[in-house]
Formats: sequence, C-alpha cells, structure tokens
Amino acid sequence: MGSVLIQGGRIVTADSDFVGDVFIVGESVAALGKDLAKSLPAAAAADRVIDARNKLVLPGGIDPHTHLDMPFGGTTSADDFESGTIAAAFGGTTTLIDFAIQSKGESTLKGLETWHKKAFSKATIDYAFHMIVTDMPDERLSEMERLATEGVTSYKLFMAYPGVLYVDDATLYRAFRQAGENGTRICMHAENGIVIDEIIKGAIKDGKTAPIYHALTRPTRMEAEGVHRAIAIAECAQVPLYIVHLSSHDALEEVKRARGRGVDVCAETCPQYLLLDQSYYELPDFEGAKYVMTPALREKWNQDSLWRGLKFNDLSSVATDHCPFCFKGQKELGKDDFRKIPNGAPGVENRFSLIYSAGVVGKKISVQRFVEITSTNAARTFGLWPKKGTIAPGSDADIVVFDPERKERISIHNKATHHMRVDYNTFEGVEVTGFTEIVLSRGRVVVDKGNLALQGGGHFVKRARAGELLR
Ligand SMILES: [Zn+2]
Repeated sequence: MGSVLIQGGRIVTADSDFVGDVFIVGESVAALGKDLAKSLPAAAAADRVIDARNKLVLPGGIDPHTHLDMPFGGTTSADDFESGTIAAAFGGTTTLIDFAIQSKGESTLKGLETWHKKAFSKATIDYAFHMIVTDMPDERLSEMERLATEGVTSYKLFMAYPGVLYVDDATLYRAFRQAGENGTRICMHAENGIVIDEIIKGAIKDGKTAPIYHALTRPTRMEAEGVHRAIAIAECAQVPLYIVHLSSHDALEEVKRARGRGVDVCAETCPQYLLLDQSYYELPDFEGAKYVMTPALREKWNQDSLWRGLKFNDLSSVATDHCPFCFKGQKELGKDDFRKIPNGAPGVENRFSLIYSAGVVGKKISVQRFVEITSTNAARTFGLWPKKGTIAPGSDADIVVFDPERKERISIHNKATHHMRVDYNTFEGVEVTGFTEIVLSRGRVVVDKGNLALQGGGHFVKRARAGELLR
C-alpha cells in the first residue's frame, strides 16, 4: 500500500481552513495536521512527498451532472467514460454522477446494466449513476427499491422533450412517491415542454430556424412553472427534490419561496448560466449552435441572481451538465433547423477554474463556499458523504492541489485546459486565475502537473440513501 504526504498546503474543507499536511495511506486519508513528518514516523517515510506550499489542498470535485457516451437526437455525446473522466480529472474533479437511461417500456435495471457496460474499466476517476426514468407503471415501481440497493439512490425525470424523455404528471407523482418511500431523491429537469413545443411550432411556421430561436422559444417563465410544479408534486409525495441546471432568476424565485416554507428542495446551476448569456446564439457562421443546450442561455441580468443564490445556499451546487457534441458533424445537423441541433455543450474540465476565478477571485464567494458548491454539497445531497466531499481521516483520498495564482486562457488550443474529445470549448478565450495542478483519486496520483500519471482504475460508487452516510 503506497503512502503520500502532502506538505505545507492550505487545506480547505467545508468546515476547516488551515495550513498543514495530509498523510494518505493506500486509498484513504490517514491523518491531518501540522508537521506530520515530525510526529508520525510513517509520514516521514512516505513513498511520495508533494510540496503544496502556497497551494490550496481541496477535496476532489464532485460533478453531479454529466452525460458521457449518451445517445441524443440520432447521435452520441462525444466524450465516453475514458476521455470524459480523464478531462474531468485534469480539471480537479474526482467523482462524476452520470445518468443511466431507461428505454421506454423497458426495465430500469436493464438501463443500469447498459451504463455499467459503458463505464466499466474505462473510467480514471470514480463515478456513480442517477437513473433517468422514462416511464414508471405500477408494476415496475418495485424496481426503484432494487436500484437503491444497487447504489442508485436518485432518479431524474423530465418535464421537457415531449415524445422522448418527457413524462406526464401522473408518472411524476408515482415515481416521486415511491422514491420518497424508499428514502431516495428526485432530480428534476423542470421546464414545461408541452407549452415550449407549441411555441417552437409557431416559430418554425414563421421560418425562424436559426440557433437564437432555441432560446427565444424557451421562456424563463416555462422553467419557473416547471420548478413550481415539481416542488408542489414533491411536497405532496414527500420526497426530497433536486432541481438540475437551474438557469434563471424566475426559476430561482420558486426554489427560494419553497425553501422559505420548509420544503426539502435544493438546486444546482452550471458555469454556463453563471458566465455566458443569450447573445452567444447570435454569433456568425452558425457558431451559436455551440451553445444550444437546455435550458438555454439566458439574458445576462439573470447571472447576478444565480450568484446570489449560490452565496445564500438557495443554489447548493455547481454541476457542468457536460454533454459535448462536436461542431463539425454533430451540431451541424441543425444547420437549417435549430430543433435538430443536439442539445448540450462540453464543460466537465473547466468547472474548478471557472468558478474559482469568477467566484473566489471575483469576490462573490469564499474559498470554503467554493469547496461546498463544487464538492461537499453534492456529496451530502447524493449519498457520497463522508467518503467523498471532504478531507478527513477515513475519507477517500480524493484530493486536488490547486494553484490559486496560476493564470490560464481556456481554449481548445491550450493543451493545459482542454482534454475533452470535442472540437470546441464552450468557454473559449476566457481568462482564469486558479488552476488544478495535482489530482489524487483514492490515493492514486492521476494528474501530475499537466500530465496524465495514471489511466483507468476509477470505480463505480454505490451511494447511500438521502440523509444516510456512506461508509
Ligand atoms: Zn443534463
């Protein structure tokens, strides 16, 4: 069993912040403290010593929302579990929660098996699955308990995409109630897809086919309506709720109102909603297609609300919704019709730097809050705590040594910032301060100052139920 001593860094977790050492034996953190080499003979004899002076030592990132190797609109997302987890590691993320999908009319367990096959032996960091539920008749409800015992303790349902992933309110209620009874959690894509589809029909009839109409046909009010309805149904069904990729002020207001009356609901947003806006859809030469994702990018003024939501915990996590499609050959499918542009954009690699730079360097949030929204809260929400999401004796040694001063320009052409298997970067040209240097996944150094030190070895993590601890 190897051992690593990380020396002299500023160790920041959700509940502590001090300069000291972390000693790792095998896959776990063995000790934390000052000058461990003096007090612990084993630390003095560590197989590897990492000098972390002037660096931050942070819990590895948890990205609770990615779509690797996912079929969508007749094509498949460009990163698989090999390239996607490597890119994530370079960016300081050591655990992904991806989405397994139930094919309509088939068993959710079959969907889980398919996703296990996609990921097995390919991943470099640890991963878990939410289950996307596309139908849930009474006779299948018992599968949800089976899923929970398999470590899949959260389910995602869609109010958007009628005819594809959409489920009606009756299905929502049935699945919500069962999930609540099982002590598990619901994730919701909250947008009124039925009304949105009508708006889209009207736009197409008027010849409005350019990427900007993807945004203009999805009003924030329809996101807010979805959030409101999901919350109301979750309240009646008594299940904890998590709103994914919340993008707008209107939708956030619904979450705040519900939390104010004591509903167990939290929400995530994504770097693209915090940093980019609707004007990107009007880039020339069809480049707006690169930003076609759902929900759509919003008017810029929404960003201030989202940052405030993060600061005051109405938004508890920042996920990427990483769902990359190449511009050439994939996004181009919608050249004459925005409806045919595959929805999604890359981002799994750049989350730490983007949020640290805009949030911490930009004085919107503290370093501890950064740790909470990029790691700890996702661990607590999704049954990974306290194995993941912190640095403490006994926790998995998923650790990032982060240089808070290092500046980089994010670009497809900058090898340091782009390992994703996709031909553009959503954040092309953005200057960031703060960069991931060394990454340990369960004690294994996987990224070492810009190099992939180790490939593979990521494990599936069976998650605990809502409110339970993972040991
Ligand atoms: Zn998504």
